[in-house]
Amino acid sequence: HTVTQLISNADIAMYQAKSRGKNRYEFYSQSLAEKSRRSMDIENQLKSLVCDDEFFLVYMPVLDASSKVVGCEALLRWNSPALGFVGPDEFIPLAESTGLFEKVDFWVIEQSIKSFAELEGLFSEDFVLAINISSAQLSSNRVHLFILEMLNKYKVKPESIELEITETFGVEQTENVLHLLRDIRSSDIKIAIDDFGAGHTSLMQMIDYPVDKIKLDKSFIDRVSGKNKTEIISAITHLCHLQNVTVTAEGVESLEQKRELIEAKCDYLQGYYFSKPLTMKELKVYSLSTDFSI
Ligand code: C2E
Ligand code: MG
Ligand code: MG
Repeated sequence: HTVTQLISNADIAMYQAKSRGKNRYEFYSQSLAEKSRRSMDIENQLKSLVCDDEFFLVYMPVLDASSKVVGCEALLRWNSPALGFVGPDEFIPLAESTGLFEKVDFWVIEQSIKSFAELEGLFSEDFVLAINISSAQLSSNRVHLFILEMLNKYKVKPESIELEITETFGVEQTENVLHLLRDIRSSDIKIAIDDFGAGHTSLMQMIDYPVDKIKLDKSFIDRVSGKNKTEIISAITHLCHLQNVTVTAEGVESLEQKRELIEAKCDYLQGYYFSKPLTMKELKVYSLSTDFSI
C-alpha cells in the first residue's frame, strides 16, 4: 500500500535472490517476509546476547570400531528468552554471514576446553574433544592464537583437540587457507573436514588438504544405499587411509548401519544409535551405564 513497503518487500526478494547464488530473480511472499523477519530477530538477539546467559554446550560421543568412546564433539545450544530454542542449523549460518561467528566460536572454544579435564575423566586418557568452527574463521590466524591461549590457560594438550571445518571452505581454497591449516596442524591440533559428501568438493581436492580426518555426512551415508553400499564407502575409506586420513561416519542410527560402516573400515562412528548429544550431567550417567561392544 505504500512505496516504502513496496521497496522494502522488493529488498527482501533481492536478498533471497542474492543468497541463492545471484544473477536470478525471486518473488516476494509472505513466507519469505516471515523468514527474513526471523533472521533479523535472530541476528539482533545474537548481537546483544551475553553468551554465558543463553548458550550451553552438549557433547556427542564418538566411538571407535570396538565401541569404545574415544572422544566427544561439542555442539552448541541456544535457549533464547526472546525467541525460544533456536537450533544451530538456523543461527550458525546467520552468525557466519553477519560477522558474529567470532563471538559464538570463541565462546564455544573457551567453554569446551574448560570442560576438557572433566570429559577426559569420564572416558579415556587419549580422549579427543572435537570443536566446530565456522569456515569464515579461516580468513585469519586469530582463531588459532585464541585456541593456543585457551589450551595454555586450561592446561590442555593440543593433540587432544580436533577442529571441525565444513567442506564449504574448499570453495574459497586459497594459499592462505592452506597455510593456516598447516600452521594449526604444526601446533599438533588436529583438523577434520565435517559434512563430507554433503557439499561440492571433490574427493581428490579433499585428499590434497592438510587434514587428519574426514567426517562422512549423514545425508551422504543415507544416499549411498543398495547392495554396493559397503563397497562404495570402503573405496572412500581406502583412499583416505592411503593418505593417512582417518574416517568418521556420522548419523549412525541402527545396529545394521554400524555393522556396515565398520565393515567398510570407517575408523570412528557417531550417531543416535550410540547417543544423542548430551549435557555434561547426562554424559556422566552415559559413561557409567553404556556398553556397545556387541
Ligand atoms: P555437525 O557438526 O555436522 O554436527 C552433527 C549434527 O548432526 C548435530 O546436529 C547432531 O545432533 C546431528 N546428528 C548426529 N548424529 C545423528 C543421527 O544419528 N541422526 C540424526 N538425525 N542427526 C544426527 P546439531 O547439533 O543440530 O548441529 C547442526 C550443525 O550446526 C553442526 O553440524 C555444525 O555444523 C553446526 N554447529 C553446532 N554447534 C556448533 C558450534 O559450536 N560452532 C559452530 N561453528 N558450528 C556448530
Ligand atoms: Mg561437526
Ligand atoms: Mg557433520
